[in-house]
Amino acid sequence: MDGNHLKKYQIWFITGSQSLYGEETLRRVEEHSRRIVDALNRSGEIALDLVWKPTVKTQAEITATLQAANLDSSCAGVVCWMHTFSPAKMWINGLKLLQKPMLHLNTQANRDIPWAAIDMDFMNLNQAAHGDREFGYLCTRLGLRRKVVNGYYDTPRVRAAIDVWGRVAAAWLDSQTMKVARIGDNMREVAVTEGNKVDAQIQFGYAVDGYGVGDVLKFISAVSDQQVGELVEEYFDLYTVPERSEATMKSIRAAARQEIGIRDFLETGGYTAFTTTFENLYGFDQLPGLAAQRLMADGYGFGAEGDWKTAALLRTMKLMAAGRRGGVSFMEDYTYHFEPGRERVLGAHMLEVCPSIASGRPSLEVHPLGIGGKADPARLVFSTPPGEAINATMVEFGSNFRLVVNELEIVAPDAPLPQLPVARTVWIPKPDLAEGARRWIEAGGAHHSVNAPALTTEFMEDYARMAGVELILIR
Ligand code: MN
Repeated sequence: MDGNHLKKYQIWFITGSQSLYGEETLRRVEEHSRRIVDALNRSGEIALDLVWKPTVKTQAEITATLQAANLDSSCAGVVCWMHTFSPAKMWINGLKLLQKPMLHLNTQANRDIPWAAIDMDFMNLNQAAHGDREFGYLCTRLGLRRKVVNGYYDTPRVRAAIDVWGRVAAAWLDSQTMKVARIGDNMREVAVTEGNKVDAQIQFGYAVDGYGVGDVLKFISAVSDQQVGELVEEYFDLYTVPERSEATMKSIRAAARQEIGIRDFLETGGYTAFTTTFENLYGFDQLPGLAAQRLMADGYGFGAEGDWKTAALLRTMKLMAAGRRGGVSFMEDYTYHFEPGRERVLGAHMLEVCPSIASGRPSLEVHPLGIGGKADPARLVFSTPPGEAINATMVEFGSNFRLVVNELEIVAPDAPLPQLPVARTVWIPKPDLAEGARRWIEAGGAHHSVNAPALTTEFMEDYARMAGVELILIR
């Protein structure tokens, strides 16, 4: 998923002041805030464009600006900065109405105190050190969830903090209108993939719609042989296909037909995330593994076994990561390596791991699944490059949602895995497997997660705050 997916979202930059300073000071407040917005945009380090808004000086201006932010469909969030003092009672009405995420930027137009030249004019203009505290007091008193960032605006650390928050705000706005297609129901008897879809929509905005397998089969049967042929050519361009026997090619063609049909079904319905389950495949000739892998790579959320919470979280994290290095994938803790001092996890799934996390060129192969009683499915097989990553899971306890995040280090497998016909990744949870797994399990974290080499914990902290869910951080 490239960075262009974020281009339709903007951040409003709102500068607070008050009328009593007089025209000259207010002119300079405007000049400074415009300069800050220009510098942040020109840096190229913030995925979303910042839009300068006229300085707000009265309760009426504040309320009108924040209401406009609520209604603007491209405004993902607002950055607020009190260049001068801006008495916070003026902000009460507006902030009570604000529905977009906020980043409170506690910065200053000048980096250094001009020790030799500083006078009372300078002191009356550059007041964020106390102006932002008055504002912060009120935000806290109102219980407003926001990200507070302190520092000179023209530094990589501050720009990175705004970039992360802006990406999360865009993903949060996307979540408000997201539609998840649940193709088939839940894997029978499984607990963690169930949940209350009404509560989820209230909390996260997304809707989960159930479909019978036949609703999708209609789209798959409408796919022409020519479309299938073209897509198989694309597979040959993108992947190594080590075996091309008649039986293998038949399975690959069937997988291509599934991909085109499912993609058409999702596009027609406006869905950006979906689930399947191998227990509801009536009429499917194979589990749609390759389709799930390739749709994930294009930014769709996916959850296996009916796991709509992970599908939605994956879509959200895909958008946060748009254009960043490293991928984001559906994942499952599969099996352990308990060699003393070298404890680690092998993560995989039956088939559905996203090739955005692959190292090198994936191999397109057909093998028996050993479960579900269907034809041998096509799948992309690959390993992943070493590096830092996170695993995240959203779980529901009836009355509340909880986000569990574990930092981890992806490592190379100890040896080639010639007999393992699925995509896989190996990681060491932080602080180590024993402690990481214990805390994940005690927190009720699911066996499914979103594995994200492209993201850091900071994204999930911003997300949990925006969504108003509990965050358990393991690192
Ligand atoms: Mn699973």
